[in-house]
Amino acid sequence: MQSHIIRTAPSCADDREPQVLTVHQAREKILSSLPALQGEERVALRSALGRVLARDVISPINVPGHDNSAMDGYALDGSQLPEDAYVDLEVIVTLPAGGRFNGTCGPGQCVHIMTGAPMPAGTDTVVMQEHVMALEDGRIRIGSGHRRGQNVRSAGEDIAAGSAVLHAGKRLTPADLGILASIGIGEVFVCRRVRVAFFSTGDELRGIGETLGEGEVYDSNRYSLHGMLRRLDADILDLGVVRDEPEALREAFQTAGQLADVVITSGGVSVGEADYTKPILEELGEMRFWKIAMKPGRPLAYGKLGNALFFGLPGNPVAVMVTFYQFVLPALQQLASGTRWKPFILDAVCTSALRKRPGRFEFLRGILSQQDDGSFVVESVGQQGSGILTSMSRGNCFILLDEEQADVKPGDKVRVQPFATLF
Ligand code: AMP
Ligand code: MG
Repeated sequence: MQSHIIRTAPSCADDREPQVLTVHQAREKILSSLPALQGEERVALRSALGRVLARDVISPINVPGHDNSAMDGYALDGSQLPEDAYVDLEVIVTLPAGGRFNGTCGPGQCVHIMTGAPMPAGTDTVVMQEHVMALEDGRIRIGSGHRRGQNVRSAGEDIAAGSAVLHAGKRLTPADLGILASIGIGEVFVCRRVRVAFFSTGDELRGIGETLGEGEVYDSNRYSLHGMLRRLDADILDLGVVRDEPEALREAFQTAGQLADVVITSGGVSVGEADYTKPILEELGEMRFWKIAMKPGRPLAYGKLGNALFFGLPGNPVAVMVTFYQFVLPALQQLASGTRWKPFILDAVCTSALRKRPGRFEFLRGILSQQDDGSFVVESVGQQGSGILTSMSRGNCFILLDEEQADVKPGDKVRVQPFATLF
């Protein structure tokens, strides 16, 4: 039997192939050679959410601006705090947040102070309202158990004037918008968005609204790509479907290369009759083709098309999403921010049995959940074929089985990458 098997070339049916890159090697090759994206624009604060800061932001002011009370209570000179005794103090004024008191608080005195109000001269300590007793004569009584300096926020403790509060390359979060507002900054310089052009290739592809003939499928890759790129805040150029015809493909490659920073195609990167991506990229740009020891998504064409980076992803819908998340996303994030993107990976106990032969890195789709005791468990979504796009929808994470990993038994620990961290 064995002697009649035909193998003319290594293929994705082999566990180990010669001249194949690991996932890690392929990602390093991409990330170590990325250009820096040029160009910045000035945007208003609310529009800056999710954008990447182009310059460091130096705070013009201290936050808080003054030493102030962290509590509603009574401000006093801490040297008056009693030890194992009571002390009664005269309340000379009430100070609301935003209020001012130009006098000085002297011995035997205190100031009724609200949260956020500046500490009056002569005070360095606040005793909270709930820890004092009001006396009939209007004074207040303080007992022991307090510490000098308590309940006071010092000027500049959050942000010091002159310090870099946010650094270039930071993707702005809701907290960052609040920080910028807290230092009175209403506009920031952000990097321009990465312009990404993409198209699908394949004679069998039809658009939504068209009737499917035999053997034809609706083009879904452009929609999942659109979704992933939107999440990354890219500037998106959808160039449609291109037939498996060299002339049409040449034109699409050229247009895309001129318009975009990054060009993404799907389909046509294997070794079939109508797989033109490799030869056309070779002809019009610089081609680096890799077989990557992974599943799904073994072939990937990577290179340059003019000044644009080029990613030729495989056609299978799951393979498109896996290769996008593992290679394109880190590249786009590094292009956008100038800093290395790091995957967020956690350990979980796998409740499913997973078949895995050593050789390739497999990205299975799993359903991750948290137990009552806080630990994470993951189960396989079931069918894992590279055309089973519902596996990406039902799943909420990749189960990462590295090259050397063999079968996984229920109860084994595995590494998972939640989809929610892929942005
Ligand atoms: P290819 O890599 O071009 O050989 O395509 C591999 C498989 O993915 C084939 O079954 C294609 O029909 C399918 N495929 C390719 N492109 C798309 C697409 N844009 N949408 C849905 N399926 C696709
Ligand atoms: Mg094809």
